[in-house]
Order: sequence, then C-alpha cells, then structure tokens
Amino acid sequence: MKRGKLVIIMGPTGSGKGTLERYALSLHPELVIPVTATTRAPRPGEIDTKDYYFFSHEEFDKKMSEGFFLETATYGQNKYGTPKHEVVPCLEEGKLVLLEIEVQGVRQLQKLIPKDDLLIVYIEAGSWEDMEQRVRSRAPITEEELAKRRHRYEDEVTFKPEADVMIDNRDGHLETAKKEFADLIESILKTSYIS
Ligand code: 5GP
Repeated sequence: MKRGKLVIIMGPTGSGKGTLERYALSLHPELVIPVTATTRAPRPGEIDTKDYYFFSHEEFDKKMSEGFFLETATYGQNKYGTPKHEVVPCLEEGKLVLLEIEVQGVRQLQKLIPKDDLLIVYIEAGSWEDMEQRVRSRAPITEEELAKRRHRYEDEVTFKPEADVMIDNRDGHLETAKKEFADLIESILKTSYIS
C-alpha cells in the first residue's frame, strides 16, 4: 500500500526555509504544500486561500472549536493553524506533504502523526549574532522588533536536538543546503511509499 509522508521544515525566521521549499517544489511539482490559516492581515500581494486562509479571530476560534485544525499556534499577536483537509487526504493518497510551520505546531504534530510517517527537518542558520547581523543588514529594524526576533529564534533553537535531519544553511552554504534538501526529498519520493 502507498504511504504518504509529512515532512516538516522548520528553523528560525531568516533561515531560508522558504527558499529551500520553493527549490524543492520547482524540481518536484508533485509535492503538496498545504495552505495554512492565520488571523494576521494579508501582506501586499498575498491572496486569500492561496498564500493563507485569512480568518478573523472569531472565525479562527469557531473553526478551532469545530475541529478544523490539525494543530494551532499563537505567534506574536496572531493565531496560525494547519487545516486538516489540507494534509490528511493527501497523506492517505500516499503523497509527500511539505509543511513549513513554527515550533509549537511541530510539537503537536509529533504527538499526532505516527513516527514513520513524519520527518522533521531543521534548517540551521547560525548563532543569534549571525542572524542579528543578517537582519540588521537587510532593512532598518527597531530594537523592539529585534528583541521579538531573538525570542522566536530562541524558541525554534530549542527543537534542534529533536529534529530528524539538520541542514546547514549558514552564510555561504545556500547551494549545498539546496542540494541536500533536494536530495532528501528525492530519496523520500523514491523510497517511502511502498509498505
Ligand atoms: P508569517 O506571518 O511570517 O507568514 O509566518 C510566521 C510564522 O508562522 C512562520 O514561522 C510560519 O512557519 C508559521 N506558520 C505559518 N502557518 C502556520 C501554521 O499553520 N501553524 C503553525 N504552527 N505555524 C505556522
């Protein structure tokens, strides 16, 4: 029988998760990238049901009480959640689902998804000092926002020892990181489906 696999890609903001995900999808369009939900406002260019399901806090809470989500998390002022229908049927069909979520959600899915069907990939982006330098060099940032980033960074890093795979994407490693991630996805696509 075909078995699906849920691959979670996680790591601090700015660690390059999105770049690696887009690269893997460009090579393997059959990957499923679930649309998740949030209560935060859409950013310019973001489209409802494509980038996120944009819910009000009330809608989100109602959906949550109806069992709509596989996991939920509060991140900053906002809630995030993975709709069950975006993941469960795809796993049942034997597909590879690639989900990019933060650490509170990862801990919930670890309890919910059988170990054999789950792979957690942590993207290593270096020390907080490296991240701080990267963030500061990109755009002006307030000390308050920087403190928030640091808090999130420290949260994500706590998970590192529990991840199944770690990919080194510190400065200067992007090309090898892309190759490693693509090879990993390819090996799962090739091997994990027949049981
Ligand atoms: P952003 O608001 O910048 O799009 O996302 C903020 C964070 O929320 C990112 O780290 C992203 O991985 C995470 N995130 C997005 N959707 C979900 C979700 O459904 N569940 C959880 N736990 N985290 C999510």
